Order: sequence, then C-alpha cells, then structure tokens
Amino acid sequence: MMLKDHVAVITGGTRGIGKAIAMKFAKEGALLAVIATRDTEAARASLEELQQISPGSRLYACDVKDASQVEAVTEEILADFGHVDILVNNAGITRDNLLPSISVMDIDDVIDVNLKGTIYMTRALIRSFVKQRHGVIINMSSVVGLMGNKGQANYAASKAGVVGFTKTVAKEYGRRKIRCNAIAPGYIATEMTAKLSEELTKSIADSLPLGTLGEPDDIAELALFLASDRSKYITGEVIKVDGGMYV
Ligand code: NDP
Repeated sequence: MMLKDHVAVITGGTRGIGKAIAMKFAKEGALLAVIATRDTEAARASLEELQQISPGSRLYACDVKDASQVEAVTEEILADFGHVDILVNNAGITRDNLLPSISVMDIDDVIDVNLKGTIYMTRALIRSFVKQRHGVIINMSSVVGLMGNKGQANYAASKAGVVGFTKTVAKEYGRRKIRCNAIAPGYIATEMTAKLSEELTKSIADSLPLGTLGEPDDIAELALFLASDRSKYITGEVIKVDGGMYV
C-alpha cells in the first residue's frame, strides 16, 4: 500500500474530486481528515463510505476562507491524529460572469475560498511539517488559471494565484523535505461542471483532443502519485490533467 498509515487532510473531501482523492488514498492505507463546509447528512454519508475502507477517518466542518476556523480545525486534526503527512487543498468554488457583471461579493468569495483558503490551510500546517521534516502539499489549480477563460476572471485569477503560491512553498520548504505541487484539471464531470448547459458541455467535449470530459478518478490518480514517494523528486510543478485541452 502506497500510503499506509499516512494521515491526509483533504479540503472539500466529501464530494466531487476531493471525495475521489479521499477514497483512493483510503484504498492505499491512508487515514483521512476530510473537511466540508458543514457537517450535513450528505457529508456524513460520504464519510461513512470512506470509513468502510479506512475506519479511522473523520469529518471536520470548516469554512476555509475563515482563517480562525482554519486554525481551530487544523489544531483539532493534529490533536486527533497526532500528526499530518499530506495536505490536499482541493476546496473550490466558481461564480462565473463577464467582468462588469461579477459582483464584488463574487470576486471576494472566489478569491477567498480558492486562493486564501489554500494559503490559510498551508500556513496552519506548515510548522508541523517543518518540525517532522516531511510533508506533501497538493494544491488544486485549473487549466483556466494557466490559459484564462471568458466569464471566469475571478476564478482564473484565483487559480493562477494558486500556481504562484505552490512554487513559493516548494522553494521555501524544499530543504525541510516538504514537497508542494499543483494539479491543473481541465473539465471534470462533477457538480461544479454539472451547472453548465448540456449543449455547452457537449461542445466543450467535442473541442477536446480526447473528446470527452474527465472523471474525478483521473485527478485522484495523479494526486496519489504526488502524495506518494514515487514522486519524491518532484516539487514546484503544475501538472495538467485535461484531455489535451491546453495543447
Ligand atoms: P465540487 O463543486 O463538486 O466540490 C467542491 C468542494 O469544495 C465541496 O466538497 C465543497 O464542500 C468544498 N468547498 C467549497 N467551498 C468551501 C469552503 N468555503 N470551505 C471548505 N470547503 C469548501 O467541485 P469539484 O470537485 O469539481 O472541484 C474540486 C476542485 O477542483 C476545486 O478547487 C475546483 O476549482 C477544481 N477544479 C475542478 C474542475 C472541474 O472541471 N470540476 C476543473 C478545474 C479545477 P461542501 O460539500 O461542504 O460544499
């Protein structure tokens, strides 16, 4: 098992891409601390599924855009598990619109969750990683952060910010045996992309070299590789999983 007894924190770990990552890590022997915004029935049901594979896994409620909630939840996780080996900053939201029509609230929310949430979570756990002289951080960016996208100015800016943050953490903490990489997914079939019309989804799929949307598991495969020692000489990278969208 690639992650036997490793403790992994995954934000947004109860559905979509985050859930696929949690399930894959659990199958490889990891213990999961999954974070959702709220402790809902759906989140509990998702945890139960996870616990069938990794019984010691737990659910935590935390809004990652709230720095004090992040401090409290990471302290609680460290107390519950004793240590953390892997952090996956996966929580993310979209609030799409053309620039003049994006409200100030929608600019703030997207930057706060996607970018500041990633920074807060990493900042809260980095000391424990430094102390133990090891840690793996995986940040969820997006191809949109690398190439831009009409109607997603706030989202693209937040995901480009994640790239700069990833590279900085890789440089700042490489000597402490902490690796930090980002994944840049293309269009993956989750609730996030289910918001798009059927017509638009079909035209996106048709435009891709591989001709189809990706699945959450396509991202989880790479997350597993990046979390494990198989990628021990890789840091500061942004790896696209996009069916050729960027080509
Ligand atoms: P979903 O919309 O399916 O899930 C989003 C997850 O983020 C949920 O688990 C949600 O928790 C969590 N989340 C949202 N806001 C917060 C918050 N304030 N605090 C804590 N958790 C929060 O998204 P996907 O699975 O599709 O996306 C996962 C990541 O991948 C995101 O960062 C997204 O930007 C990125 N991505 C996705 C792509 C796609 O095509 N799907 C493409 C490129 C990047 P809750 O369940 O409590 O709401």
